[in-house]
This record gives sequence, C-alpha cells and structure tokens, in this order.
Amino acid sequence: MTQFKVLIEGYAKPTGGKAFKASPTTTLIIDSGKNILVDPGASKSKLIAALKAEDIFLKDIDLIFLTHYHPDHFLNIRLFPDVDVYDGSTIYRDDEELEFFGNIPGTAVKIVPTPGHASEHVSLVIRTSEGRVCIAGDLWWWMDGVKQMTDRKSLLSLKDPFVKDKRALLESRKKILAMADIIIPGHGKVFRVKLK
Ligand SMILES: [Zn+2]
Repeated sequence: MTQFKVLIEGYAKPTGGKAFKASPTTTLIIDSGKNILVDPGASKSKLIAALKAEDIFLKDIDLIFLTHYHPDHFLNIRLFPDVDVYDGSTIYRDDEELEFFGNIPGTAVKIVPTPGHASEHVSLVIRTSEGRVCIAGDLWWWMDGVKQMTDRKSLLSLKDPFVKDKRALLESRKKILAMADIIIPGHGKVFRVKLK
C-alpha cells in the first residue's frame, strides 16, 4: 500500500485585473521508502510550513514529480537544487536526462498520460488504504469561490480556460474517472468519484 498526504490544498484566487494568487495542490507520496513530492507549487513559505507540520525536512524529499510545466506547479523546485525532478517520462538530474516508461522507477506509483490542459500533462494513480487515489493535476481545477460540482456530468463538462486540447481533456477525464476512487485536483478540494 502506498501512503499519501495532501500537504497544501491548491488555490487560484483572482486578485484584481488579470492577476491571480495561485498554487496547486501539493501532495506527498510515500512509497517503497521514497518521499515523493508532487507539484511542489509556488509558495515557499507555505511549502516549508506544510513539510514542517509533518516533521519532514527539505533534505528528506527523495524526488520531485511534476504533472505538467506550468510555473505555479513547479517554482518551488528552487528549494531542492540537488533533488531529481521527474515528469511523465524523464528524470532530470543535473544535466542528465534519463528516460523511463510506466511507473515512477522503483515504486508502485503509476503514471497515466492525461493530455488536454497541457500536452505533457500526466496524472499519478496509487493504491492506498482508502482506495485508488489519483493525483490529477489540472485535469480538474476550480477558481476559489466557484462551487465545486463533482457529479460525473459536471466533472466531464467543467470548463478549463487554459485548455490546449478540449477533446484530449475530455478523454483524459473519462479515463481517470474509470480508474480512481478519490481524486486530488490541481486547485480545489479532494473529492470522491461518484457513479453518476
Ligand atoms: Zn496548469
């Protein structure tokens, strides 16, 4: 069984004009003795405080996983200059790029391609004591103050103002709804998958 902990719930707050305050949901996965930090986000102070609350130091993080390349999801890699950064197919270690396929190497953490919001977007699926949990990045995300509807129809039709490929996004959403019991969205609250 894989363990997980949502360290920071993602948010996206309009702050006037075209400005935002945004940082994604940051999740810690513990699997096969590794501390995996998923989408470390943009707020240095919030991340440090959240790790401290779990009694985890920056040096305890074994690897960082990025669901996609939007800066609000990854700015905090600056706090971990010596930690390997993984995306859906490559490990970045100093100037080396090491390709892999399938799970995060050496773990039971499954990588599922979920393009749409961004072409490189991937999600992670883990088996936990609470069921199959998907860390879904921006496959779903809500602006603060917007009611988070999690019936199937609303989830499939949720508008993404930053979508790159609408058709791919819909297919990715269907794929994850068929695989997961619990979904951790990019910005918003964790929700359970309902049948309807
Ligand atoms: Zn994004």
